[in-house]
Amino acid sequence: MALKILDSCINCDMCDPECPNGAITLGEEIYEIDVDKCTECIGHYDKPTCVSVCPIDCVKPDTDNVENEEVLLAKFIRLHG
Ligand code: SF4
Ligand code: SF4
Repeated sequence: MALKILDSCINCDMCDPECPNGAITLGEEIYEIDVDKCTECIGHYDKPTCVSVCPIDCVKPDTDNVENEEVLLAKFIRLHG
């Protein structure tokens, strides 16, 4: 599934440049993840890199957007050919 950033985000800007899909952008108040671009880092890393770099652990699974590995891989192929 895609990931989401919680309201506790402190806008530290650590995650944005690390996302291989350009899925993270600064929204009106905090950073946000584009569901259509988040692949859980499948195809790039063994685990979500935004989770790894976030200093306050505020990136969590988006249970409203549950996707299996097949769907995530298809998204990776669509984004990167
Ligand atoms: S899990 Fe990976 S693809 Fe998804 S937002 Fe985080 S860094 Fe980007
Ligand atoms: S690394 Fe965490 S606290 Fe920093 S901008 Fe990203 S989600 Fe927010």
